[in-house]
Amino acid sequence: MKRIARLDPITAEQIAAGEVIERPGSVVKELVENALDAGATEIQVELTHGGKSLISVTDNGHGIVRDDLALALERHATSKITRFDDLLALSSLGFRGEALAAISIAGSLTMLSRAKTSVEAFQVQVGREPEAVTHGHFLGSPYGTRVRVENLFSQMPARLKFLKSPPSELSFVREWIERLSLTHPAVGFKLISDGRTTLQLKAGQTELERVRTILAGNDDFPIQVADSRDEGRGDSYPRVKLYWVQGLSLAQSRKILQVVNGRVLKDRFLQQAILSPLKQSFLPGQFPAIALFLEADPATIDVNVHPTKTEVRFLESGRVFQAIASLGETLISKRGAPAFVAGPGLPVSLGGSHDGIVEIRSGDAARVIGSDAAFLATPSNARSESFRSKDRFTAPFQFQAVSPSQVSSSGAGTVPESAIEPVVEQQQRPHPFPEMQFARYTGVAFQTYILYDLGREMVIIDQHAAHERIRYETLKARLSDSSRALNAQILLVPEVVSIESQKMRIVSKNLETLNSRGFEAEAFGDEKILVRAVPAEWGTDSLKTRLASLFDRLSEPDFDGSLIDETLFEALASEACHSAVRAHDALTRDQAESITSALFRCEHPWNCPHGRPTVVRVPESRFSEWFLRLV
Ligand code: ADP
Ligand code: MG
Repeated sequence: MKRIARLDPITAEQIAAGEVIERPGSVVKELVENALDAGATEIQVELTHGGKSLISVTDNGHGIVRDDLALALERHATSKITRFDDLLALSSLGFRGEALAAISIAGSLTMLSRAKTSVEAFQVQVGREPEAVTHGHFLGSPYGTRVRVENLFSQMPARLKFLKSPPSELSFVREWIERLSLTHPAVGFKLISDGRTTLQLKAGQTELERVRTILAGNDDFPIQVADSRDEGRGDSYPRVKLYWVQGLSLAQSRKILQVVNGRVLKDRFLQQAILSPLKQSFLPGQFPAIALFLEADPATIDVNVHPTKTEVRFLESGRVFQAIASLGETLISKRGAPAFVAGPGLPVSLGGSHDGIVEIRSGDAARVIGSDAAFLATPSNARSESFRSKDRFTAPFQFQAVSPSQVSSSGAGTVPESAIEPVVEQQQRPHPFPEMQFARYTGVAFQTYILYDLGREMVIIDQHAAHERIRYETLKARLSDSSRALNAQILLVPEVVSIESQKMRIVSKNLETLNSRGFEAEAFGDEKILVRAVPAEWGTDSLKTRLASLFDRLSEPDFDGSLIDETLFEALASEACHSAVRAHDALTRDQAESITSALFRCEHPWNCPHGRPTVVRVPESRFSEWFLRLV
């Protein structure tokens, strides 16, 4: 048995420092927070080798008086709070009084500062007395502070080993500056790496301008804003504001930004709340560019739950989640304009394609364009009777605008009119894209894309993706409607699905719920499930495979019974895809227009259930660019 001994102070300090300082980005975060707390209006960050050799942060804030300089470097030394209770009404970013101490253990730190009240600038290093230095101008102001950190982790080889290449470390630094800059749009920021300016944010921006710069760069993506105050939720807490760059889809989640009471966070709970309403608009592995600004009663937030202060705890977490998620919902469904705007470069080259997704890179933003490769890859003649006239679903109300002549003209490659059924009737909601009501139909291109002229832009609707969305919502509405869910379809021959015996126990727990949703399924021995009926909406195509994958989901050890509906909906998405009009199916004008109008009656019109866009807008100005017209 090992005996207990006190850690020597150096080891203990190194451990504590390690919690705060993980990489150059964390040093920059802490130093920039200090500069912001000091009221700086200009902040400059300089790096060499991604910050591995040098990190220098200069500000024009109020500075530090000589007598406090050495103290600032000590652990638990702060000017921001004096008592624990001060945390309840905190307005500064720092409060733990340990950042400078931690940084000075992780690397060699020099701090030069001239206080507003002093005529001289003083410089201090750990363990040394501050000395007067003659120079002392800081970013256009005679006072301010400069902190230099050299050779980060040179005394901590275990940490050094985990640092990435200079470009990766530089991008972490840049990310932190971008995040922090959101809380202070009036402050100017400059990032210089190995002598080159890599980021410059103008001083004096508004919140919207700053958000736009950070989230969308210089691209002309529309930014959607929703504010709980404008949604009739008064000025009660929590106040939520969301800025969403519509049409931007990124492979990483780094443009999901969170600001809570002026503090930048990277909080998983908040991330989930932000993503929950957007989930079905994004393919797995794709993320939105969105910024959350949340104001909550300071007394209901604990900011002191993590050494890096990037997480908080909410007293009323349910309310906070709800407030964020419902505003997000508003943002995408009511205000939603089409989820996608075609950017420059679109008609020239589509770049590399994989998994049916074409990415066009512009800067570091990847736009995802739906291109249903699976369908495109199928020769169109194999499609000629791909649409199943034995369509199993009878429309709740008929496809409105079909004239008799069109019905009789449906031949090979065309779509029987019963195939396109409008979404089940729902409560009136405002048209998500009101301009479409005045759009001029201009035809279908490639038997795949329905085109509209909107005066100043062209609107392109993917007939398959759109119909998939419509089918999905119709099926989902029917499944959720309990009176119809009982509408089981008895199978002529029951399906027997095999299942591993140890999974059987979990599945059988869920069978009862399943049976209340239009299934008739029962355990059959201890390795089989006998299915006598499925909901009519499920259809019977490749039923065994779909049942097997359903039971597979239900048998996951942590499967939560309350997720059963969600699981059924997922299964519906693939059924919706199956039964929807395909690319290259010839549509009549009425069918095309009816897809369009049914699409905009959907709850989530902008994406198919797999997250691909249904609508693309191309502004007229883009056409002018292609044709080299001067505009
Ligand atoms: P905290 O920010 O939690 O107070 P720090 O270790 O980051 O702890 O900083 C210690 C103290 O040093 C701060 O409370 C502040 O008074 C002072 N300080 C640090 N950086 C600056 C700066 N750039 N300008 C003015 N004062 C600073
Ligand atoms: Mg600090």
